[in-house]
Amino acid sequence: AKNNGKGNAAFFDQEMDELAQERRALEHDLRHAIARGELYVVYQPLVATAFASVIGYEALLRWNHPERGEIAPDDFIPVAEEIGAIVPIGEWVLREACRAAASWPKNVSVAVNVSTIQFQVPNLPAVVRDALSQSGLEAHRLELEITETAFLRNRHSALKALHEIRALGVRIAMDDFGTGYSSLSNLKAFPFDKIKIDKSFVASISDDEAARSIVRAIIGLGRSFNMPIVAEGVETQEQRQMLLDEGCPQAQGYYFGRPAADPFQAEEWSLGSPH
Ligand code: C2E
Ligand code: CA
Ligand code: CA
Ligand code: CA
Repeated sequence: AKNNGKGNAAFFDQEMDELAQERRALEHDLRHAIARGELYVVYQPLVATAFASVIGYEALLRWNHPERGEIAPDDFIPVAEEIGAIVPIGEWVLREACRAAASWPKNVSVAVNVSTIQFQVPNLPAVVRDALSQSGLEAHRLELEITETAFLRNRHSALKALHEIRALGVRIAMDDFGTGYSSLSNLKAFPFDKIKIDKSFVASISDDEAARSIVRAIIGLGRSFNMPIVAEGVETQEQRQMLLDEGCPQAQGYYFGRPAADPFQAEEWSLGSPH
């Protein structure tokens, strides 16, 4: 059959309806995911000292949807941010991560991603304080990872919240460094405790001289600001060696360890001890 313009439009309308419906269903499910126990947190190791010792873990959110199975954070966190559901979800992750880390060895810290939207709610410092006191986790073992979009809107109140959180003794890391806006002015405006080099630079260091130069420059920046630099997304021995050669102090990536629900149990298991 020949398609006329009208038929196409009707078909298009129907597709749009289906998309909108699917989207509404996702939003609905997201709002109930905590109460239904569908969310969980996995932890990926962060290594330091010639990349030989694990000094912490990054908490990464996972959603096991009853019908759709595992949904990746990149597919649902932007939606959660748009509908504001990231506020209770982010708070849940924070509590969960603090509770887990409180049972880890005392020299191991936990890093939690905090969405820019969470900074637009005025009680973030109080939420962090409560998560610490309820879990018993010492503040210096908690690190919050933020991206530069946190500074785009309500810059003044975002800076104020960051200072309050830092005053608790919690460290602040700048995530995805190099991909955002006006990176250098943000470094000047707020004293970060750590910078994470985005994995897109790490992915191309071995075959792209420009990427390697950028990584080198960020490591140099960290040295002069006295801020540890973390290279994320390290997948190969070659990348690991190049980062060591460049003097990168910390790293993270599949090469060192994948995210796992119970990192200490997983380690024990891989060493072959019974449990
Ligand atoms: P991110 O904060 O930059 O986290 C690093 C991402 O890189 C994670 O993806 C991690 O699993 C992945 N990754 C780690 N090592 C490697 C590697 O060697 N190679 C590659 N290709 N990837 C690696 P994931 O877990 O899918 O999370 C994606 C993003 O979702 C995160 O990026 C973060 O922006 C967001 N996210 C995850 N959990 C949370 C959360 O609890 N709250 C908020 N607000 N955002 C979260
Ligand atoms: Ca992160
Ligand atoms: Ca990152
Ligand atoms: Ca990211």
